[in-house]
Amino acid sequence: MKKQRMFDELVELMQIDVSSGQETEIAGLLVKKLEQLGFTITRDEAGETFGGACGNVIAVREGERSGVVCFCSHMDRVPGGLGIHPVEEDGILKSSGDTILAADDLSGVAAILEGVREAIESGEKLPKVEILFTVGEEAGLYGAKAFDVSHLESKMMYVLDSPGRIGRVVNGAPGRALLEAQVFGKAAHAGNEPEKGIDAAKVMAEMLATMETGRLDENTTSNFSSLWSKSAKAMNVVCDHAILRGEMRSRVGEKMDRYEEYFQSHCREIAKKRGAKVEFKRENTFLPFQIPEDAEVIRIIREALTEMGIEIQINAGGGGMDANIFNQKGITCVGVATGYFKNHSTEEYLHLDDFYRAGELVARIIQKI
Ligand SMILES: [Zn+2]
Repeated sequence: MKKQRMFDELVELMQIDVSSGQETEIAGLLVKKLEQLGFTITRDEAGETFGGACGNVIAVREGERSGVVCFCSHMDRVPGGLGIHPVEEDGILKSSGDTILAADDLSGVAAILEGVREAIESGEKLPKVEILFTVGEEAGLYGAKAFDVSHLESKMMYVLDSPGRIGRVVNGAPGRALLEAQVFGKAAHAGNEPEKGIDAAKVMAEMLATMETGRLDENTTSNFSSLWSKSAKAMNVVCDHAILRGEMRSRVGEKMDRYEEYFQSHCREIAKKRGAKVEFKRENTFLPFQIPEDAEVIRIIREALTEMGIEIQINAGGGGMDANIFNQKGITCVGVATGYFKNHSTEEYLHLDDFYRAGELVARIIQKI
């Protein structure tokens, strides 16, 4: 591993100002680097789907032998990542304290670039390599959602975008969906004839007060934090409209379906009892995934890590990531840790040695395909 080269490239990427939707400059630089490595580039229009200025970068390098593999990282970062000055101290890289570090996810980007470079420099015959650098991940997985997977030949993908020490492989993540109940009551003058009205706010309050929420079991939660009414300003009219909005999360897709059924029947029953009407909506932010430990995608990375003397740690992640979307779209993928911690905060830091080894890991995976 050319550590200095990796370090310099990482710092170069961190110092480019980027936010979700504004990835044009970093994408331009990455395209140039990928072209120098012999990749053919395709750009899509993913940015347009969320008001961004830039699309995903898809890079393909034809193989000298059979086989294909895909690596993915995201180019954007959470807010608070402009004007980053990385500081190195005892093998740890951190920001100067007033910004994030953006090791999430530039450590992934730089590890992929270096891994590919090393594999090419080895002079061995390589399989086809596909690289996907997405946009808008932090703002809502927008790049992945808009991505047309027919651009890829690989049915297997390594997403270098997980916190933790090198060796951690994320084989599952919860799904999340938004739930909404819209309650229709009946308006009536609040002073003259309140008994003729049906109070939608009260019906909604009853729904929420008697509903099972919070931690539902070891891997399912729900939370309703948005209460709203179109008639909120009219104090002299019985409230005829109310909306209850929230989210549910689970590592198991069927549990989300079952909770949705419970949510609907619970609200419907109360609406019926109070003479109100109710309408429902569900919107999937992302669905959960769970890759079995004996899957090919895990077998290969396990072998590569073992050769490096690193023990694989397979476990589930806590949040949604691009991998949720790609698994949903039929590409089997896992998250790979690159050594960063406390991402999304100004305390974010990166174990440089883990980062260098992530580059080596990419090179070894390519050689094992
Ligand atoms: Zn990330």
